[in-house]
Amino acid sequence: MSKTLMNTYHRLPVTFASGEGSWLFDINGKKYLDFTSGVAVNILGHNYPPLVRAVSQQAAKYLHVCNYYLSDTSTAFADALVEACAPAGMKNVFLCNSGAEANEGACKLARKYSLLKYGPGRHTIVTLKGSFHGRTITTLSATGQEKFHKDFGPFTEGFVHIAGGDIEALERALDAKTVAGFLVEAIQGESGIVPQDNGFLAAAAKLCEERDILLMFDEIQCGIGRTGTFLALEQYMDTEGNPLKADIVTLAKGLAGGIPAGAVLAGNKACNVFAEGDHGSTFGGNPVAAAAGLVALKTVNDTAFLSEISRKGEIIKSALMQNQKIKEVRGRGLMIGFDIDAAAWMILKAGIARADLSKDQCGLLILSAGSNTLRMLPPYIISDSEIEQGLSIVSELLDANL
Ligand SMILES: *Cc1c(COP(=O)(O)O)cnc(C)c1O
Repeated sequence: MSKTLMNTYHRLPVTFASGEGSWLFDINGKKYLDFTSGVAVNILGHNYPPLVRAVSQQAAKYLHVCNYYLSDTSTAFADALVEACAPAGMKNVFLCNSGAEANEGACKLARKYSLLKYGPGRHTIVTLKGSFHGRTITTLSATGQEKFHKDFGPFTEGFVHIAGGDIEALERALDAKTVAGFLVEAIQGESGIVPQDNGFLAAAAKLCEERDILLMFDEIQCGIGRTGTFLALEQYMDTEGNPLKADIVTLAKGLAGGIPAGAVLAGNKACNVFAEGDHGSTFGGNPVAAAAGLVALKTVNDTAFLSEISRKGEIIKSALMQNQKIKEVRGRGLMIGFDIDAAAWMILKAGIARADLSKDQCGLLILSAGSNTLRMLPPYIISDSEIEQGLSIVSELLDANL
């Protein structure tokens, strides 16, 4: 426990000291199998040699230059990232440090696009109920969950939340006179791993196109290979049956494999909207983060690597579906959620308490997403035997606790 850190998280009683692959070790030497990747961050596990090497080498060259100059590492990272997101229609990128910062940038971009073309008054951003877009005042305003809204008003104006899947509500909400953008997670993370259906996103893409409203995907949790394609939106089709394209994509979390990094990518419509002085971020594109990001991108944006993520996800999902204590299993690739008849928090605690040095027994790190939903976001490098081990611990914990 810490006396100096603000009490903003419901922390579990464990302090980590080192990690290796899919494993973390606490200060007493107890071992934990990591099914969280630090909430979709350490996508290549812990102490991944090429990542450690790239970060160390960059640190020895230079840590930072300000954004009034170019950095060779940061420009290489931007090139690789835009190339990886080209199938979704992306043309350029603004680099920042976190998810909230990326979504803030996306909202600014959509508003300026609309202002330049249509003048003032067309600034609303439509998002979904159950969405999560960040913790700053504006990204909280975008977040469609009441529980985050108490205590912190007044909020930023111009955000409307509608129910996911409701095409009629979407058609009403996407008013061509007042709306600049529609911001959506292809698979909602924080509210319980909730994938949008294809029909809804296809309708959204069509309406956005017809009304010149920017279609913005928050891929902060579901992007960077998490669901078995580089971006989750690549698994969706438009109404003509062609792969869906976005106007703006935001990324963060796993983007640099464990170093803070965020990105706002823009397609044809928005790529030339920001002018000099419109936006900035001191640490955005930091060379150490960019060096890490290059390794993450090169490793993940590979057909064979991505299909392994899908394969491993299917193993986990089919095992979970056979468990009588589990109600519904949702998600794609290594982004999986399932509902149980007990407080998810109890299972998280039991997973930690299971670690026991005297029995040479490991603990399990798993996440919740809502009070009765457990969430698994294992590192992509997890092995089949580690998956098997984790699944058997999950069964054991469910049997012991409900
Ligand atoms: C985590 C998350 C964010 C916020 O990212 P931070 O880096 O914590 O600011 C935004 N959107 C989604 C979908 C997320 O999962």
